[in-house]
Amino acid sequence: MSARALIDSVEFARAGEQLTGNAPVSELTRLADSLFDTEGALYFELKGGQDARQRLRLHLMVDGGINLQCQRCLGKLVYPVSVQANLLVLTADAGGETGEIEDLDGVPASAAVDVWSLVEDEVLLAIPLSPRHAENECSPAVKEAGDPAASPFAALAKLAQERNKNRT
Ligand SMILES: [Zn+2]
Repeated sequence: MSARALIDSVEFARAGEQLTGNAPVSELTRLADSLFDTEGALYFELKGGQDARQRLRLHLMVDGGINLQCQRCLGKLVYPVSVQANLLVLTADAGGETGEIEDLDGVPASAAVDVWSLVEDEVLLAIPLSPRHAENECSPAVKEAGDPAASPFAALAKLAQERNKNRT
């Protein structure tokens, strides 16, 4: 079992610490809306350091796969995750730098930064808003009649479809 890791972001970067581990997909609850299921885990490597301008940085690498829900057929879409992020630790010193476009990715200067949450942030940024299989790999799903999002017309169409099926 891997445990949720909390780091002191300032100390971690200053001391050049390293941490590797696996974040179970089932624990990354902010991904839930995009997921088909919560199988698997994402491997991560976190390294502390400083950039050329002596600013504290956390380098995060995330690798693995998650099962997204295809927005066309609502089936399982295995999505490979491979992310690298060079995060700026937002200390008071670095505070003035956050206006730089490249530095929008930041980590709070805090004694209790949740590493799995950092992993989750990067994966959220990396996955497509509307994931789909390739054009010829699937066809649109028929909405379930019980789905509140389905229009009454779609429900009627499904009903008619089922009646026809029973006739044959
Ligand atoms: Zn599909």
